[in-house]
Amino acid sequence: MNIERNNDLRSGDKHNLKSAIYPDTPIHASDKSVASTSNFIRNIIDNDRRSGKWGQRVETRFPPEPNGYLHIGHAKSICANFGIARDYGGVCHLRFDDTNPEKEDMEYVNSIIDAIRWLGFDWKRGDCEHLYFASDYYDQLFTFAELLIQRGKVYVDSQNSEQIRSTRGTLTMPGIPSPYRNRTSEENLRLFREMKAGKFTEGAHVLRAKIDMESPNINMRDPVIYRIRFTSHYRTGDTWCVYPMYDYTHCISDALENITHSLCTLEFEDHRPLYNWFLSELTDAGVFIRPLPQQIEFSRLNLTYVITSKRKLLQLVEGKYVDGWDDPRMPTIAGLRRRGFTPESIRLMCERTGLTKVSSWIDFGLLEAALREDLDEKHPRAIAVLDPLKLIVDNYPEDSEEICTAPVHPHHAERGTRTFPFSRELWIERSDFNEKPPKGYFRLFPGNRVRLRYGFVVECTGVDKDNNSNIIAVHCNYFSDSKSGTQGSNNYKVKGNIHWVSAAHAYCAEVRLYDRLFKEPHPDANGRDFLEALNPNAKRVVTAYLEPGAQQFLPEERAQFERHGYFIADRVNSVPGKPVFNRIVSLRDSWSTSS
Ligand code: ATP
Ligand code: MG
Repeated sequence: MNIERNNDLRSGDKHNLKSAIYPDTPIHASDKSVASTSNFIRNIIDNDRRSGKWGQRVETRFPPEPNGYLHIGHAKSICANFGIARDYGGVCHLRFDDTNPEKEDMEYVNSIIDAIRWLGFDWKRGDCEHLYFASDYYDQLFTFAELLIQRGKVYVDSQNSEQIRSTRGTLTMPGIPSPYRNRTSEENLRLFREMKAGKFTEGAHVLRAKIDMESPNINMRDPVIYRIRFTSHYRTGDTWCVYPMYDYTHCISDALENITHSLCTLEFEDHRPLYNWFLSELTDAGVFIRPLPQQIEFSRLNLTYVITSKRKLLQLVEGKYVDGWDDPRMPTIAGLRRRGFTPESIRLMCERTGLTKVSSWIDFGLLEAALREDLDEKHPRAIAVLDPLKLIVDNYPEDSEEICTAPVHPHHAERGTRTFPFSRELWIERSDFNEKPPKGYFRLFPGNRVRLRYGFVVECTGVDKDNNSNIIAVHCNYFSDSKSGTQGSNNYKVKGNIHWVSAAHAYCAEVRLYDRLFKEPHPDANGRDFLEALNPNAKRVVTAYLEPGAQQFLPEERAQFERHGYFIADRVNSVPGKPVFNRIVSLRDSWSTSS
């Protein structure tokens, strides 16, 4: 790892962000294009195009390992790779880096494909799908290894893994060469072929690159490039019992696919010499021609209150701390989608945080701000009472009802109006009534008047209580000439304006109120147990009353429930005519003062 600095961007303030990690580049809040902001990678590409290194060609790749669901950190890499290729008229390959038979699965392949498509990207050019699997290169990778053996560049080591580890050396001590380092090419070739033929047990031999046991870069001290594994692979089954390592596979896959710019995160910076070594050796052997793909590193996305490690996310799923990979509390793309985040908001956040070499923490509030910005303009308004209290309008006739009208969107009159009935018994929010109001409380209390939003002005006359003195209903009278939108409504000046739904007409629904999954901004800092930082209140389920039109919401349809935030009809549990809602995000950031 090569991390120079650890900026902690807590405020979510764009100006702060701008000065902290993007000193020279203005960030336009209104610019919603994807990854179009200038950055050091684009400068490299521009230079390459000017010099004609690859002509005008720009080919990138996104190389996930199918061993888990993609998370918000991957979104950054996706936006970078696919966004850059698209902006330069190139193509980004989707390549599954699947050389670990133990952990990989088709379920993950499918979830990764879904997530990238949902984010708005594809791997097509013309009619050609640039979808690849490293496992499709196993034959070539093996042949190239044989070639490197013949050229004396790699050897079979028969030390066990413990011996290899202990002779690798340290940052201050050089490594010790293996006693098998100088085997003849013939012997190496025979052993390697026998490894492939299944003649040895796991760990009996490995194939190692013969580079430099004294290199200051430990990655160059004869890294292992093949190991024996008697494990079925999800695509190649039992065809192979030797599997290539990541460092060997990755650069060769890039070169086979004619990738120009191979973007990865900073932890691979120390692997770059190895990347270049393999490609250079194979070029000398006549396999590839120059120019070779160029590895460029950028800093990974670290988001506060979030964990971006597939291994730890798997732990949350397997330990049943969440309800699966797509639980709306999860930072997986599938979870964010189900929660109601939009692809636009994720792309906008990735663009605003930019691509740099500096490792930094991005405040989760920045993603939520991008989300609110995107949702506010697009989605209709609706009324929901989440913590219901009965309000009885005593002077309204029992068998009567009338229609009230509200705009679909307050800033877009052209989107029309919505209607819902008013009647004698209503649901209001429990917090909108207070029998003994504190100073400055303008909502409902005995003797006070408020406006029922889009309806009438009412005056509170009293309450009903049960035997334990709990308030079970509030009484009021309404003023029949105060209806919103009528001339008389202006004669009533009230300070409070509360929302309501008619009890007889409301749609009663399950509403899930989600919050951040972790209480702490850095849940896994300093190796501590992130499970201890779980927020026990990250999911609360309530039975709410919604304006009748909400019943028609289709899965994945969104709205702002006035005063409460943005909600989405859950894509998994909603059925036609019976949507279940997830709160995507509240209207304001309630965490910013505490962080
Ligand atoms: P994890 O540690 O979560 O398993 P990974 O890097 O092992 O992540 P891969 O499937 O190998 O997962 O990642 C595919 C690509 O996504 C890689 O190029 C990797 O560098 C990039 N990536 C992973 N996490 C982040 C992150 N937090 N920010 C930016 N890019 C990331
Ligand atoms: Mg990885």
